[in-house]
Amino acid sequence: MEPADIQGDLTEVLLSEADIRVRIAELCREIEHDYAGRGLLLVGVLRGAVMVMADLSRELRRDVEMDWMAVSSYGAGTQSSGVVRILKDLDTDLTGRDVLIVEDIIDSGLTLSWLRENLQSRGAASVEICTLLRKPDAAKVEVDVRYVGFDIPNAFVVGYGLDYAERYRNLRAVGILAPSVYS
Ligand code: IMP
Repeated sequence: MEPADIQGDLTEVLLSEADIRVRIAELCREIEHDYAGRGLLLVGVLRGAVMVMADLSRELRRDVEMDWMAVSSYGAGTQSSGVVRILKDLDTDLTGRDVLIVEDIIDSGLTLSWLRENLQSRGAASVEICTLLRKPDAAKVEVDVRYVGFDIPNAFVVGYGLDYAERYRNLRAVGILAPSVYS
């Protein structure tokens, strides 16, 4: 769906479908260059990364493998604690593999920093991170993100895989959710 289909639910469209497509293509050219001559395993983090994974993987002009993980952060409240539980693990043996984690958004960065260490400890040759969106707080954590699509303001955004209570994932654009939707 388009922003016009949910008029009133967004206060602002941050990124159009075209903005996202152009930036993903740029990231793919970098990834192709950086991983030339090496095998590449894309690891998507369910469920938000489904759209990024689908578009990024198809835009890449090279062969890749894909696998998926589902994780959830422990701890009460809205703040991610950094302690993570694996709900669905990879099917792939990571020994000697070059792994690129594909994410939709990094907020505190705690989940990804845990995930990277976890995958690295399985004997991967390298573990890098690609995220479409990054919020300002991510800078506070020591998590080195190799590929960033867009730095966005500290607002709650939906669309292109990102949800509010499982809604809006199928929005083609990324927009700021209107407070009236959740208050
Ligand atoms: P963190 O980086 O460990 O804080 O967690 C990032 C996760 O929080 C993402 O994978 C999203 O599931 C969720 N998240 C953070 N910010 C937003 C947002 O603005 N909209 C929707 N989900 C978000």
